[in-house]
Amino acid sequence: IERTLSIIKPDATKRNLTGKINAKFEEAGLRIVAQKRIQLTMEQAGKFYEVHKERPFYGELCEFMASEPVVVQVLEGEGAIAKNREVMGATNPAEADEGTIRKEYALSVGENSVHGSDAPETAAEEISFFFSGLEIV
Ligand code: ATP
Ligand code: MG
Repeated sequence: IERTLSIIKPDATKRNLTGKINAKFEEAGLRIVAQKRIQLTMEQAGKFYEVHKERPFYGELCEFMASEPVVVQVLEGEGAIAKNREVMGATNPAEADEGTIRKEYALSVGENSVHGSDAPETAAEEISFFFSGLEIV
């Protein structure tokens, strides 16, 4: 059974969409096995998104992620990483499939409501960035 790290981003927490987004995960068979609401500092956001530090949108992305609280969570299920990315939809909401979270809720390619790990190695790293083993049940 696989686990992935999910973040409900500031544009979504601000609009009170946490429950609607969680319903999409649960309907897809993903179980929320850890969850907390936190406010990232610029430093934490910068560290979390370090892989993107050379990209032109890095500064904007970090400021956005630190602008309001986020909900960080661990989702568990068969093929959880791919399944979660399927439920999220394409990065750019204009390209996202019907029924996906980003199609329904994202505001733009930057303010796109959710983050999900993209591979087993990054999922493990990202989960341990936010959670200790004891917090995941
Ligand atoms: P995430 O990693 O958040 O799950 P993703 O894997 O679909 O999303 P990435 O290419 O990893 O997309 O980009 C990380 C995040 O950076 C995106 O989710 C988005 O918030 C932001 N981003 C990506 N491309 C752009 C862009 N062209 N302009 C502004 N922000 C962007
Ligand atoms: Mg990504």
